[in-house]
Amino acid sequence: MKVKNMPYEHLDIEDIRKELREAIELARNAKTVEEVLESHERTNKFTVRFMSNYSLCHIRYTCNTADEFYVKENEYYDEIVPEVQALSTEYSNVLLQSPLRAQLEEALSPVYFKYLEVQSKSMSQEIIADMVEENKLVTEYSKLMAGLEFEFRGKTYSRAALSGFFKDDDRATRKEAYEVFGNKMNEVAVSLDDIYDRMVKVRDRMAKKMGYKNYVELGYYRMNRVSYGQKEIEAFRKNVLESWVPVNVRLREENARRLGIDTYMFYDDGVIVPGGNPRPIGGKEEIFKAATEMYHEMSDESAAFIDLMMDNDAFDVEARKNKWGGGYCTNIPAYKQPFILANFNGTSDDVDVMTHEAGHAFNAYLIADNRFAMEIGCGGMETAETHSMSMEYFAWKYIDKFFGENADKYRYMHALDNLSFIPYGTMVDAFQHIVYENPDMTPAQRNEAWLELESKFRPHIHLEGIPFLEEGRRWQYQMHIYETPFYYIDYCLAQTAAFGFLLASQEDYAGAYARYIRLMKQGGETLFPDLLDEAEIAVPFKEGALEELAGKVEALLLTIKEKI
Ligand code: ZN
Repeated sequence: MKVKNMPYEHLDIEDIRKELREAIELARNAKTVEEVLESHERTNKFTVRFMSNYSLCHIRYTCNTADEFYVKENEYYDEIVPEVQALSTEYSNVLLQSPLRAQLEEALSPVYFKYLEVQSKSMSQEIIADMVEENKLVTEYSKLMAGLEFEFRGKTYSRAALSGFFKDDDRATRKEAYEVFGNKMNEVAVSLDDIYDRMVKVRDRMAKKMGYKNYVELGYYRMNRVSYGQKEIEAFRKNVLESWVPVNVRLREENARRLGIDTYMFYDDGVIVPGGNPRPIGGKEEIFKAATEMYHEMSDESAAFIDLMMDNDAFDVEARKNKWGGGYCTNIPAYKQPFILANFNGTSDDVDVMTHEAGHAFNAYLIADNRFAMEIGCGGMETAETHSMSMEYFAWKYIDKFFGENADKYRYMHALDNLSFIPYGTMVDAFQHIVYENPDMTPAQRNEAWLELESKFRPHIHLEGIPFLEEGRRWQYQMHIYETPFYYIDYCLAQTAAFGFLLASQEDYAGAYARYIRLMKQGGETLFPDLLDEAEIAVPFKEGALEELAGKVEALLLTIKEKI
């Protein structure tokens, strides 16, 4: 069925309450495992119904934020979702505390119980008021950032539009754009300090109310992490510093020489290929055609997947008035139908929609019939991003369909960009550990901590002379730091796994692809380190895990560079 024809049903909060309360009571009073399983099945069916309607509402609202009906429905969900979440946590707690738990874990899934445990550890009635305050601060931050306007060469730009000039082939243009950006940001620097300071304090308070030493532990639970903790992330950080940073510095400095750059400035970091970064050869129609061909050539499963997406009009990619400006991949479980929203802009980002977002969608398609598709789904963020980021590399074989004679330029830019992301992302995460372990730091001390991290993780980049940035304030426009603490490291972990698949696919595409599909099909039912072991991909937080990988990626990049 076409996504636009899927019927939407408004679920009344009274009915939702009744359904979930009954599920909680049935599970609580059950005398046998069978009784719990029976009520669990019923709850699952209801979850499918609820999530499908929630998803349809979100899709229709984001496709047209002026649609009166869905604007109202969207507000309704904002209102009821916290209560639905609280009821769902209550249900989880009943399963966790059940006298039948051991048998239930066996009959259901031990991994599912791990997820229930972190859910329970991340939530408590005592912090609800703090969570409301936290949400208000997030809104305050995003409003402040969204309202910024920049005067550049006689015209007014939004931040997104101005950042187009950060990648300009002309060095003076990039520099000027960053100066304009930095001067404007300096006007709101004190407000940004103040919002963040209040956020750190409220998060620290929540953690302490729940009996944790500081926000770090609670933050990890709130990220639903079941297969790694602070110790593993510390080991990963060490691996990045020892093995990844030197490779990034060498490749970037060498590339800068090629671009005729003497001192590598912050404003040089967005440009990789001389003459400008490559763009796709066609618009929407050509990109859709290329993607259809690619997925047909890749495998039977990916062919069936892309046909399902195309037949059901499950892409909305044209930028237009009243459409939400971001991008996402979601799923409508009742129809086992993924859906992708994007705003094509003529850059290589458009191709990423057909590789990265479609990688997420392909995963949703592959796991739709898994036994725990609703309870566990695709797993943690690190696993989900491994699915999508690896697909970006499996697409390399077909990338000339999108970039024509610039295919190698794209491959080089794509891999170097991703390679440089790992030190940056790890630094973003390290910064947050410092901040939440020391909640009384002053804003100036936070900036100092950031500058110190810059010198360790990106020692080749000079910040002098760029307003705002030279004071160590780059982190203030990394929205994840404000909005979703500790989210960032998952991208880094996943990126190393994706590089593992890239190298494997260079040696034996069919073998690597088969291992990737096996990993994909398990969704989150196998834990991240076990998934990687099974796929013969290095687990990034094992000691020395990145050394060989970094060396091989460097060699591959140098080979591609010879050709461009
Ligand atoms: Zn993603």
